[in-house]
Amino acid sequence: PIKMAGVPYHAVDQYLAKLVKLGESVAICEQIGDPATSKGPVERKVMRVVTPGTLIDAGLVPERADNLLLALMVDAHRCGLAWLNLASGTMKMTEVPRTQLASELERIHPAEVLVASEAQIEIAFPVTRLPQWHFDIAAGGAALRTHLGVANLQGLEADELTLAHAAGGALLGYAKHTQGQGLAHVQRLVVERASDFILMDAATRRNLELTETLRGTPAPTLLSTLDTCMTSMGSRALRSWLHHPLRDAAQARARHGAVAALFDAYGASRDALKGMADVERIAARIALLSVKPRELAALRDSLGTLAALREGLPHTHSPRLAELHAELEPDAGLIDFLTRSIAAEPAALLRDGGVIAPGFDADLDELRGLTTNAGEYLLALEAREKARTQIPNLRVEYNRVHGYYIEVTQSHAAKVPDDYRRRQTLKNAERYITPELKAFEDKALLAESRALAREKTLYEQVVQALQPHYARLQRIARALSEVDVLVSFAERAHARGWCAPTLNSNATLQIEGGSHPVVAEQIDAFVPNDLDLHAKRKMLIVTGPNMGGKSTYMRQTALIALMAYCGAFVPAKSVTLGPLDRIYTRIGAADDLAQGRSTFMVEMTESAAILHGATAQSLVLMDEVGRGTSTFDGLALAYAIARALALINQSYTLFATHYFELTKLEEEIEPVANVHLDAVEHGDKIVFMHAVQPGPASKSYGLQVAQLAGVPTSVVKAARKKLAALEEEAARAMPQRDLFSGSASMPEEARPERVLTHPVLDRLRNARADELTPRQALDLVYALQGLAQ
Ligand code: ADP
Repeated sequence: PIKMAGVPYHAVDQYLAKLVKLGESVAICEQIGDPATSKGPVERKVMRVVTPGTLIDAGLVPERADNLLLALMVDAHRCGLAWLNLASGTMKMTEVPRTQLASELERIHPAEVLVASEAQIEIAFPVTRLPQWHFDIAAGGAALRTHLGVANLQGLEADELTLAHAAGGALLGYAKHTQGQGLAHVQRLVVERASDFILMDAATRRNLELTETLRGTPAPTLLSTLDTCMTSMGSRALRSWLHHPLRDAAQARARHGAVAALFDAYGASRDALKGMADVERIAARIALLSVKPRELAALRDSLGTLAALREGLPHTHSPRLAELHAELEPDAGLIDFLTRSIAAEPAALLRDGGVIAPGFDADLDELRGLTTNAGEYLLALEAREKARTQIPNLRVEYNRVHGYYIEVTQSHAAKVPDDYRRRQTLKNAERYITPELKAFEDKALLAESRALAREKTLYEQVVQALQPHYARLQRIARALSEVDVLVSFAERAHARGWCAPTLNSNATLQIEGGSHPVVAEQIDAFVPNDLDLHAKRKMLIVTGPNMGGKSTYMRQTALIALMAYCGAFVPAKSVTLGPLDRIYTRIGAADDLAQGRSTFMVEMTESAAILHGATAQSLVLMDEVGRGTSTFDGLALAYAIARALALINQSYTLFATHYFELTKLEEEIEPVANVHLDAVEHGDKIVFMHAVQPGPASKSYGLQVAQLAGVPTSVVKAARKKLAALEEEAARAMPQRDLFSGSASMPEEARPERVLTHPVLDRLRNARADELTPRQALDLVYALQGLAQ
């Protein structure tokens, strides 16, 4: 069923905003005929269709995030993706194996995905189904060639991406249809290759909390910490950089150079950026002929401040800034044209008039003169009528509903002349019109409506005259957003005392005095830590108590690497990084019950992806792998996974674990080393040191952490008793079964292959840990205690 509603035209934006928020698509039908001359119903037409992926209206589209429309074509093994940023006129495409589709979509984060009606795919983003014939490889290729005005797609290196051609054809068709026009401003097609980026899968993006916390809030995240951009263009660019870090070290180095140049000199640029309009989106609205008068005024003012921005830019100290400085040169003719054509402070809506500047058009000035001179005429009329009628408080006035009138209070009603015609009766007064005033009114109203019509025509001409400037405005917008991000990087680096990272081609990942950019913001005494990985030392087994700082240490390593490759300075004393191709994380235990996968299944699925994909240039963070199954299963798996990562994948790996057995890998495999985070006991309290030390941890402090967390003292006491009993029993039956108790050595017979039997263990093995309520867990502890006695 299709719902329909008629709304007053001036309120349409509010209704649209509501519907768009609900994720609806809306077809907008307007009267296009002239009601005055139409017989019967006025002619109507669907002017455009608003869908989640094709929004560009200010107020409807998120200001600080890009809004993308994506089309997807799949075959048995591969996917072709084409996506469009209507607000910047850029179209991109790529092809990936089907297994990578989810992470690719997570990276691009489209607002709407177009797929063929019969395609069998599950997608986590809003989907619009189109008939199958929209996705045709030959027709799609032809549509792309025609649209871009090229004979073939080879020059764009897009020739072979045939699935993406089909997607691109569907994309263009849909976008044109919804906008009700040809999309002349979409002139760029960029082919993205997975190999250009440091790849991160969907889980990694979430775990590292790049732009959204695990709880789904926008702060505190890496983006919220880094983003001191002055414009929404800058914020959008930064968000996109963080999600698409480039492998290209040269580009990152160029950005580091720019940040260094701005380090002590960003103030002037920040001031100039402040108040800069969203040139990118205004340019797109110019191209789509939907630009509002105030946006043109804002564009004019922003172009005017470019000179100040360029002047404050230390462009002679950085080649990248020099390039941006050149890009930011405004067209003096354009500024002049906008100044002459658009009023200094235009009305919000064209239909209210007052949009075109005086002096721009002689006809308009004349029509406006007729209404503005009305004031004098009316005063003269009032004086004349007062003299003629001898009514001292007679007034000539105007209101929107009744037009012009002469008002006479009731007390003077008897003196009203014959030629006055009653217009309206009030409690204490009568309002009249005379033939002379009526004639004037007709003339004035006619002049006003003609002035409005003239303004509308002129405004359309102005917008048309701006079309040739589109490409240049886009270039300026891109340069502005990059300058804004670089200035923001410099501001952060300066305020936080961050350093410029060194990127080289050695196999190295070296961090001196590194901090977690987000956690360090929230903690007074953050303890900086070092990291040193290289060809001969590629894996660290990280042990230490819960809450000791293991996850923080691992995540900060990934974030520092990511920031360095985005071109930012980093929270450390010094950082040296070699080439990096992927970042993987297996962190935290999140049940994906919606998709019917238990914690353990998620854990193993992610581990499988890492073992298949990680290379010697990948950074892998593994946190507590194997915890979702029974101890021996889990330990055995963690052990085998760590071994494989060290020996086969040879990735840079940080492997946090409670399985003490894994610390033995240091002796077995050369590139493996142990580090730990320490804690000290203070009476029965525990103090975390948060400093990374060489060697394995000596204790797990599980009971102390439980106490800290508020587990009732009686339960902790019972657990302590139980622990002592277990340890004693283990020492008798199989010395050193528990991983952190006492001596670090694990005798041969305690190897995971041996299966232990004991009623306590059986009961534990059968317990479905993930499904227990806290109450059931406590009951289980009591039951275990019973069995153990
Ligand atoms: P683990 O993974 O070992 O359980 P986390 O990394 O989650 O521990 O850290 C627990 C808490 O300790 C963090 O929320 C943070 O408040 C604090 N913390 C972690 N690392 C540091 C550090 N280097 N300096 C100061 N506090 C830290």
